Amino acid sequence: MQELLAGYRRFREEIWPREQARFEALAAVGQSPKTMVIACSDSRVDPQMIFAAAPGDMFVVRNVANLVPPYMPDAAFHGTSAAVEFGVRVLGVQELVVMGHALCGGVTALLEGTPPEAGDFVAGWISIAARARDVALRCDIPDQRQEVGEHEAVRISLANLMTFPFVAEAVAAGRLALRGAHFGVATGRLVLLQPDGSFAPP
Ligand SMILES: [Zn+2]
Repeated sequence: MQELLAGYRRFREEIWPREQARFEALAAVGQSPKTMVIACSDSRVDPQMIFAAAPGDMFVVRNVANLVPPYMPDAAFHGTSAAVEFGVRVLGVQELVVMGHALCGGVTALLEGTPPEAGDFVAGWISIAARARDVALRCDIPDQRQEVGEHEAVRISLANLMTFPFVAEAVAAGRLALRGAHFGVATGRLVLLQPDGSFAPP
């Protein structure tokens, strides 16, 4: 907690004076971010830092391996689906970015098995991207399987987003664009999913 509080003091001393007016305006009129980002919980891939975004700019949900489950409006607790519903239906975001990343532990677990102590929830959660495992294992170059799996996990999340009727409607009406991205932790470089299914620099 001491490290957190030291950071909080720096926030109060250095950032808050600079950003106070923005926060006050956002408090008065509410948030209206144009972009939603679904990213991994990994501590190295903070969307707000990568996109140099300000408070109020992005509606963000982070989870293990940046996955979106298929549309399943049942009685289970769907945190990510709730965020998608809020972002798309209530906030009316215009762009929704699924951002995968290099060295993703969730994808590693998919390829190599879930750590035994993470069997209650992680194993079931990452099974959303089970198909990414099949695609990755078909890659002839073992060193590339991790990245192939990470890219495929992004494609699966985007495909699952389109199973949400209100997402498909918004996309069809031109009110919402879905994008895929992948961030290189060691390189700091972002690549974007292209119409042909490949990933390339912006
Ligand atoms: Zn990850």
